Amino acid sequence: MQPTILNIALDVPLNRTFDYLSGDFNAHIGNRVIVPFAGRNLVGLVLEVKHTSDYPIEKLKPVSHVFDDIVFDTPSFNLLKFCADYYHYPLGQALISALPLRLRQLKPAITRKQLAFQSVQTADACQILAQIPAKKVLLHRIIAAMKASPVLAAGDAALISTGWKKAMVELKNMGLVTEHEVLAVKASMPSSTIVPKLNGEQQQAIQSVLALTHSFKPWLLHGITGSGKTEVYIKILQQILQTAQSQVLVLVPEINLTPQLEARFRSRLSQYPLVTLHSNLSENERLQNWLAASTGTAKIVIGTRLSVFTPMPYLKLIVVDEEHDGSYKQQDGMRYHARDVAMVRAKQLNIPIILGSATPSLETWNNATRASNTNKSQYGLLTLKQRAVQNAQLPSIFCIDIAKSPTENGLSPLLVKALRERLKRGEQSLLFLNRRGYAPVLHCNACQWVSSCTRCAAKLVVHLSQKRLKCHHCGLEQNIPLQCPSCGNADIKPIGQATQRLEQTLQALLPNARIARVDRDSMRSKDALTDMLAQVHAGAVDILVGTQMLAKGHDFPNLTLVGVLDTDSALYSPDFRAAEKLFAQLMQVAGRAGRADKAGEVLIQTAFPQHVLFDALRSQDYVSFADAQLQERIAMQFPPSSFFALLRAEAADFSVVNQFLTAAGNLARTQKSIDLKHEVMVYDVIRPQMERLKSMERGQLLLQADTRLALQRLLKMWMPEIRGLPIANKVRWSLDIDPLEF
Ligand code: ADP
Ligand code: ZN
Ligand code: ZN
Repeated sequence: MQPTILNIALDVPLNRTFDYLSGDFNAHIGNRVIVPFAGRNLVGLVLEVKHTSDYPIEKLKPVSHVFDDIVFDTPSFNLLKFCADYYHYPLGQALISALPLRLRQLKPAITRKQLAFQSVQTADACQILAQIPAKKVLLHRIIAAMKASPVLAAGDAALISTGWKKAMVELKNMGLVTEHEVLAVKASMPSSTIVPKLNGEQQQAIQSVLALTHSFKPWLLHGITGSGKTEVYIKILQQILQTAQSQVLVLVPEINLTPQLEARFRSRLSQYPLVTLHSNLSENERLQNWLAASTGTAKIVIGTRLSVFTPMPYLKLIVVDEEHDGSYKQQDGMRYHARDVAMVRAKQLNIPIILGSATPSLETWNNATRASNTNKSQYGLLTLKQRAVQNAQLPSIFCIDIAKSPTENGLSPLLVKALRERLKRGEQSLLFLNRRGYAPVLHCNACQWVSSCTRCAAKLVVHLSQKRLKCHHCGLEQNIPLQCPSCGNADIKPIGQATQRLEQTLQALLPNARIARVDRDSMRSKDALTDMLAQVHAGAVDILVGTQMLAKGHDFPNLTLVGVLDTDSALYSPDFRAAEKLFAQLMQVAGRAGRADKAGEVLIQTAFPQHVLFDALRSQDYVSFADAQLQERIAMQFPPSSFFALLRAEAADFSVVNQFLTAAGNLARTQKSIDLKHEVMVYDVIRPQMERLKSMERGQLLLQADTRLALQRLLKMWMPEIRGLPIANKVRWSLDIDPLEF
């Protein structure tokens, strides 16, 4: 008899898969296995079960073990195969790194199970049901609950009534429910949140999406903060989840920054088991939640970028909230963009996908407004123009010209005046300064020495409370010197503003104000942010000082002033996406003001009040800003009107980096195919802005193509050649398709 051969994916940096004998094990596609590899044991995934191999069968080794858990289904395999191909990343590494850590280990995954009840839905059962007398109220309540979700976990049943156990026995005896073990999912508590009556725009958006739920259809839901996008998602989810065997995936940029979102979904969709997937979970929680999603127990998955790969057998809809957010892009390993992967997944599964944002990425805006109308993947554009809450006004946005109203310790007199007014009225204010620490640099007035990191091309940031200088890029720390290390001058000073210093300045200026700071330093512990937000809501804080951590999705009804400090460097940045990012960020921060019935005011301190970006911002006109930016991009042939790939390399010695990138560039230029030469442009080797990081000298090579196809064709031929370069082993290199950072 022919032996059974398993084709197996392994987490090794080689662009191939491996054949092993199945031995006595009965293995299936998607099983985890343990195999001997180069003297070690590795976890692998079965990609194929077959009877032939390109290798001599007598040379194949048997697998050491086959676990009985199937961790990937075929659609998930297909998605990851597409990604490995598109991002030119080894398939085995792509697959295994998409698994929760517990499933990458050489031991069986322990699953936490709990008792659950499943309603029996046969004609007989219906008859028996009809005969239960009306006075058996509890039985009817349980049956009603099980209509919404046929599987009821013991924990959820307990929420219905204390007498649930006896009632369940009765139902079991009648043959109306059966008892099982299911994966434990944290129950959601229904709460008495008010369900708003949807406005016309919201209803229109919901109807449009619900009219086309059985095929691939991308939607852009464009609406300013507070326009009711989340309400639209919730309503659509409610409809879609009513069908048995359905699941939805909601992607969010950083869930730990938006605890309110999870709470809202839990309270409004409490009948559907919901799990979250993000980096703040313990490895065990992550495993349980992942299994609940991949077995179909969890109906709703809210997760950050990696969760886009979670197997969900009944997936019927994907929502990508804040689709423009840069944190959807993975910055090491396989450098995927979760929004783009979600789009591919929706297409493969033939289901709808909603991208939501107040400030869509220009790529998405392009797809929703310019791409050809005949294209089946043309995005539908849904717009919410008004703030949803009655009477909630858009905040007024003003620039404070700091040339005319100079700042003192970072604050202009006009901004201070506005802060005092809020204090008097008992309203809250927020000051946005996207720089943590005390001051960005320490400086010597005598010799112009500045505190610099020895390992990075970056300044050491002053952290006065700890009396330390810190590099925010590599973690290097030093004591603050008492005199200039270069000339001995004792008069060295912190220059510029960061959040700690701003907090101190404010406290001196407004001694009666209750000030709170929100940044990565003050919010280290897991629950710190949630606690802080609760304090703000309780009115225990007058002025919030914070970084972009504060910009995301928090609702502060009593907040009427937002001050923006020091964003000018982004206005004239060499990064062609800087303006787009700044606009999105400022719109988001501005959205924190005046959420309830109090008018909000946003004051931006700038030396360039005439800049077009501020014009658009003052009129809160995303559309004209985006259209103008898009015109500019097209004129300059930047994405989305062309496609980039960036080859990055680093080594201790830049000349090695340069040799590698130059050789790679030459290979790309001499590709035989003639038409490629016209379609793909290979630039010269350049150094990124951060020339050195963690003692590694860095360089990069940019490729630009008119079409994705041309780029992919070149990369397919080029990548094996790069891997074959002898010097490739002397550098650390990576390829970034559709890079966001340059
Ligand atoms: P977004 O997600 O666009 O920021 P939300 O859905 O969070 O907007 O809505 C903002 C606020 O307005 C929430 O408090 C929400 O409950 C409320 N809201 C949403 N839709 C309506 C509506 N049609 N009528 C009244 N309030 C609404
Ligand atoms: Zn000096
Ligand atoms: Zn450093």
